[in-house]
Parts: sequence; structure tokens; C-alpha cells
Amino acid sequence: MSAILATAAATLAASSPQNGRDVVDELLRDPTVQAARIAIRDLEPQIIDTQATLCEIPAPPFAEGRRARALHRLLQEAGLTDVRIDDIGNVVAERRGGAPFPRVVVSAHLDTVFPDGTDVRVKREASILRGPGISDDCRGLAVLVGVARAMNLAKVKTSGNLTFVGTVGEEGLGNLRGVRGLFGGQMKGQVDRFVSIDGAGMSIVSRGVGSRRFRITMSGPGGHSYGSFGMANPIHALGRAVDGIARMPVPPGAKATFNVGRIGGGTSINAIASDAWMEVDLRSSSPESLEMLENQMRSAVSSAVASENRRWGGRDPVSSGIQLVGERPAGATESGDRLVDLAVRISAALGETVAPSESSTDANFPMSLGIPAITVGGGGEGTGEHSSEELFDTTGSARGSERALLIAIAASSTDR
Ligand SMILES: [Zn+2]
Repeated sequence: MSAILATAAATLAASSPQNGRDVVDELLRDPTVQAARIAIRDLEPQIIDTQATLCEIPAPPFAEGRRARALHRLLQEAGLTDVRIDDIGNVVAERRGGAPFPRVVVSAHLDTVFPDGTDVRVKREASILRGPGISDDCRGLAVLVGVARAMNLAKVKTSGNLTFVGTVGEEGLGNLRGVRGLFGGQMKGQVDRFVSIDGAGMSIVSRGVGSRRFRITMSGPGGHSYGSFGMANPIHALGRAVDGIARMPVPPGAKATFNVGRIGGGTSINAIASDAWMEVDLRSSSPESLEMLENQMRSAVSSAVASENRRWGGRDPVSSGIQLVGERPAGATESGDRLVDLAVRISAALGETVAPSESSTDANFPMSLGIPAITVGGGGEGTGEHSSEELFDTTGSARGSERALLIAIAASSTDR
């Protein structure tokens, strides 16, 4: 680390948000950091090419292997060391600092929501790139590679270690299995800060919206609609449970939501069904609110079953099952935290006023463990994420790459 960067880091460690502006200014005045900023701006066309190239390699849920191998090669070429694919499928690479700590993980996710067989060719027209996953998260992966390249070109020395990661299983039923494996296994207890680069734009996510997803089933013997009339009906019980969920009070405080997203069951119009089911999604950034919603949902289901069985005098009763099919822990990195503060002030230095927001990303998991974590956009502008109409506008995108670079340097040059 150069002398000036060392001074900046020492000041960062002691800084408060009030005197922090000067600290970021000092970091930006460091000649090595300046060289890295120039390098990453020059690299932007290459970063955009990488974004398109990686995106044309399919990475459906639970099948990220091919894209992982491509990222592995790119991180090796960028000059990182100990590049490997772990047993969960994450790509992990190291960039050593002056000491092992602080250890900062910078990541982007490999997976998409698109099933195998989706046409993933990228179409380019002037500043617009179109293709499934082009913003979410091919942008993050390409910026990750760009940050590694720029740091090595400028020979940036940080005080702590930076670990670059391409995670698997960020989307949907992937259930954050990549970060879970990372923080629960090889890096357990060793990570001081976590920065995920996810999607386009210049947002800073500091609160993780948690979710719990359930599949609820109702079952009974079933029978003829006329001949067996008088037995409890699983579809009627399901309807009562849907009604109970629809009437649930909204917990006060942080935003909390509930939704019955899919229902199904039965075999025929003239049969009493033997099975009926629904899928329910509960969300909040407050763990307490999530708990409250789950309890309300469970009591809505049990009172629905009780009412339906009572209605027919307990004859051929209906029973219910509740299965947890997805869980993302809720959590938050407080706005006074040094990492959030650095990200906000670095954004301001680049001319972007950003208020930290909430979302559901890889950062949820470290947040739930109390590890300072944020998710930042990779710059440019994205629309239509998770749809076949997804696009990325490269206008001004270099600023996102530059910000990710500065956040990575600052986070790994600050005390634990
Ligand atoms: Zn994403």
C-alpha cells in the first residue's frame, strides 16, 4: 500500500460519517487509486464485452457449471490467485493484501431465473444490450472481473485480503445456497465485510428483505360429489384457509407482505377432491414481522381445517400439511455502519446521491449473521429483469464499475 493510501486507511478506521468526506477525498487523491480508476474506465468496453460473452453461456437454476468455468478462467486471466470452484459450485479467487484481515468478499451471482433451453443470445444495438440475465447478474459478474483487472494493472495494495466470488443459487429456489455454503463452510467466521454487485443502476442495498415460502396441502379421502356428500372437502378447507390468510393483519413497522401465489387441486367437477394445495410467500426485512406472519398463517390453516371438519360433524376429516419450500433470512446493515457509509460517500464523490434501500439478495445471509454487507448496482441502466425482455443500457455504465472498484479498495483498506 502506498504511503498516502495507508494514511487514508488509518483515517478511515477512525472516521465518523461527519468527517468522512475528507477520508474519501484522501483515498481518491492516492496515485495508485487514481491509476486504478483510469484503468477501469479504459476497461469499460472490455467489461461490456465480458458481460455479453458470459450471458450467452446458459446458467439456469442448479446448472451454473459452464458459466462458472468461464468465470474461473477470466479471474485467472485477471491475475487473481488460488482460483477454484468449491464443492457447492461457487467460483472463489484471492487477491492478497498486506495482512489476512480485514477479509472482504466481493461477489456477483452466476445463476439466472431462466430454464434450460432459453435463447440466451445477446443482441446489441448502439448502447443497448438485450438478453435474459444481461443486467441480473451478467453485469455484476463482468464488473467483478473488471475490478480485479484494474486493481492488478494499477498494482493496488490493500491492507487486507480481497476474495472474489461468483455465487450459485442466488435466485428463487436456489435459496442462497452459494453464500450459505461460503459463510457456513470454508470461510466461516473469517469474513469481515461482504459486497455483492447485483444488476444495473447505482443503488446501495443495506437492508435484506427476508422471505419464507410455503406449500400448504389439504387432504381427505375424497369421493363422489353426490354420493359422498357430507364428507369434509379439502378444496373447501383450502378456500377457508385462503380467506383466513387474506384477512391477516399487516404487522406494524417495517414493510411486511403476504401472498397466496398459486392454488390447485381436485380431479373433476363432480368429485370431492382428495387433495388441494397453495403456495404462500411471506416477506419482510424484520425477522419479528416474518415470525408474526408465519404464526398467523399457521393459525389460519389450522382454524380452516377445524371449521371444515366441524361443518360436517367430523366425518371423513380433512388434514393439512405445511412445508417450508424456501427461506431467505432477513437482516440489515445499519445506516451508521462504516461499509454503508463508505459506499454512500464514494457514490457522492462520483456525483451520485444514493439513499440506501432494501431488497432481497445474496447480502441477506451475511446480514443475518451480523456481518456488515451491502449489495450495489453495477452501473448503467437495466429493465425487464427476470423476463425475456431484459435489457442493459451502457450509457454512463463506467461509473458503476469505478464505484465498485473504489468500494472494494476502501473496504479492504479499513480496519476490522
Ligand atoms: Zn440478481
